[in-house]
Amino acid sequence: MNFIIWNCRGVGGKGFHTLIRDLKREFEANFIILLETHVSGDRGNKIREKMGFDGVFVEESRGHSGDLLPRFSRKNKAFNLWKGICKTSNGVERNTIWRIGEGTNINFWKHNWVPELGKLEHHATQVISPLDTCCNLTDFLTVSGSWDLTKLSEWLPDSVIKRISAMAPLSPWKGMDSIAWSGTSDGSFSLKSAYKSIIDDATPSDELFKLVWKWKGTERIKSFLWLAAHNVLLTNVERRRRHMSNSAQCSICNATDEDILHVLRDCPFAKAVWIFLKAHDIITDFFNMTIRDWLFANLSNETDWSCIFGVASSCLWFFRKRMHPTAAFEVIKSRGKEMLSILRKSSQLKRSHTLARSMIKWYPLVENCMKLNVDGSFFKRENNAACGGVFRNHLGRFVVGFSCNLGSCSITQAELWGIVKGLHIAVANEFSHVLIESDSAMAINFIREGCSNSHPCKPLLDDISLLSSRIHKVEWKQTLREANTVADTLVKKGQYLPLGLHLFDTPPPNNLNTYLINNLKK
Ligand SMILES: [Zn+2]
Repeated sequence: MNFIIWNCRGVGGKGFHTLIRDLKREFEANFIILLETHVSGDRGNKIREKMGFDGVFVEESRGHSGDLLPRFSRKNKAFNLWKGICKTSNGVERNTIWRIGEGTNINFWKHNWVPELGKLEHHATQVISPLDTCCNLTDFLTVSGSWDLTKLSEWLPDSVIKRISAMAPLSPWKGMDSIAWSGTSDGSFSLKSAYKSIIDDATPSDELFKLVWKWKGTERIKSFLWLAAHNVLLTNVERRRRHMSNSAQCSICNATDEDILHVLRDCPFAKAVWIFLKAHDIITDFFNMTIRDWLFANLSNETDWSCIFGVASSCLWFFRKRMHPTAAFEVIKSRGKEMLSILRKSSQLKRSHTLARSMIKWYPLVENCMKLNVDGSFFKRENNAACGGVFRNHLGRFVVGFSCNLGSCSITQAELWGIVKGLHIAVANEFSHVLIESDSAMAINFIREGCSNSHPCKPLLDDISLLSSRIHKVEWKQTLREANTVADTLVKKGQYLPLGLHLFDTPPPNNLNTYLINNLKK
């Protein structure tokens, strides 16, 4: 089936109906959607008749932009494809998000512009009157152009404010606001993500499968865990269900039906092994959980236990009829040890690969050049991001440092925020030549190569290009994490400070050590 979707101009023009008929013939289109906000009412109906198609629907426009997307209304007589489009239009709207540019098109309450939150009207802490719903983003800015946290806190809870404060505010110097797809990390639409969002709506995403997928160990055990999580191991219960045998009874203890949980945990043979392993000390309620909760609790354990658990449960399955519990316990112990040592070695190897073999030291700068080291961090548990940085002159002396608690955003955004805040300080202090060092390869790549308009980092990159155009000379350099320790310490400090920017004229006391070490290396 062929589609033409055209955001067109000049539908009212003389030659339009012939053009659209030609297009239809040329592309053998079965379905044509025209988006035109300037034509509606009687005029729309006349044009519709002229085009001479079979089933035509006109949906009235609401102003030139109005809502984010055209509203589709479902009519009983409509053919199936149209009904399908009407059905999915809600999902499309939910996954469409505004990227802030100059901010004039975005309605503060009614539009989806804060990642992962949807419309803010659903989060307001007090009743919003119809008059307030016309608010623009500008209504929530301070005179200096940053978010007005006091005003935001009158209307919204702290969790929402944390998200807003981590977004780059609008600016008249930026481009138009644009629409992006929130289902992908870079904001561009993909059929896969759209499908996933529809499926996710129907079935909540299963964290257990993700845990199995990420389990570190041999593929053989991983696929065993995969089968166990899907409840498809060929136990006697399963055999009887598939008419492969008459009895579902456990052939070891003959006490009860043999389902997965019985083989892996409750059969006396398995229970003895788990007691040897002291599983009940590690996971509370170990012997009283359903199969899903049991797998989940064990596999999500962050110590070595999740590895041992995988090894033990697979051994219990494969050895169940061939071994005595003590022998099985010995095998599990030795295999577990072996696997843990392999895992440790491979993670050490990875770490040593990432450490580049270059000298980490202070490189002297040309006179009048300021060096800005920036960094960002994200604490997953607190869902909080911070950035920080330090300016040093060409002799390596501390000039000014900053920490900023950002709120909730991604780590790349935090790294870019560090650069934005640093550039603000550089502009305010009239530094003419700045060398900016960040340990984030991604941030530096974005700045050098740019990103698409729909990308979540686009508003921050706009800020960076605006600010750096106000400085005579800006250079970018990617540095090693080990050479960025002062900025790193300031970032960590930022995590514990109140929301917003904090400046330091002297190196903060707990920072002195790293500062000295960094400088002694020169
Ligand atoms: Zn049994």
